[in-house]
Amino acid sequence: MKLQLSNAQVGSEWKREVERRVGRKMADCYQCGKCSAGCPTAYEMFHPIHAMVRLVQLGRKEAALQSRSQWVCVACEACSTRCPKDVDPARLMTVLREMAQEEGCVNANESDIYDFHRSFLASVRMFGRVYEMGLVASYKMKSPLRRGFQDLVTALHMRKRGKPGFLWHKVQNVAAIRRIYDRTKLQRPADRNPD
Ligand code: SF4
Ligand code: SF4
Repeated sequence: MKLQLSNAQVGSEWKREVERRVGRKMADCYQCGKCSAGCPTAYEMFHPIHAMVRLVQLGRKEAALQSRSQWVCVACEACSTRCPKDVDPARLMTVLREMAQEEGCVNANESDIYDFHRSFLASVRMFGRVYEMGLVASYKMKSPLRRGFQDLVTALHMRKRGKPGFLWHKVQNVAAIRRIYDRTKLQRPADRNPD
């Protein structure tokens, strides 16, 4: 397939913003593929991590932001550890997750992972750690008809063993955790409101 790229895409403001947030030059990547070779979830990605770096190099904003790759990335950092050019591809995945949310172009097929991501972050913001029962409730309430009775049998088995607990436990200094969120803008106001 022939790919048409304009100079505007390749030298785009968006690409510079990605590089600013990652703190690395994407042009340093020479596409050796070591990152993808060590990625435990590459088999689930249409664009493995080296291809995601390539999309950014080429300024292909829509393809990068709408990819599912950043949502199946488990942030294990294996790619960044293996990269001989210190491109920090794991950080790139985090930046693309943030940007996809900001621009409202999260891949529609990844709503389960995205909703779980938001519920997880909201829980840590509120309690300083994950409150499992709250996390499950928040996740299910984002799509109650579809998720309401999912995993019911598993949940009953877990309850027999006292999991997940009904009570929450806050860390001592929740305010410090919230300051981290605010400084990193990890969760913007729009993300805090459930659908
Ligand atoms: S390991 Fe580094 S240099 Fe090699 S393809 Fe991945 S990001 Fe690029
Ligand atoms: S951080 Fe993400 S992209 Fe990198 S190796 Fe781990 S799962 Fe793959």
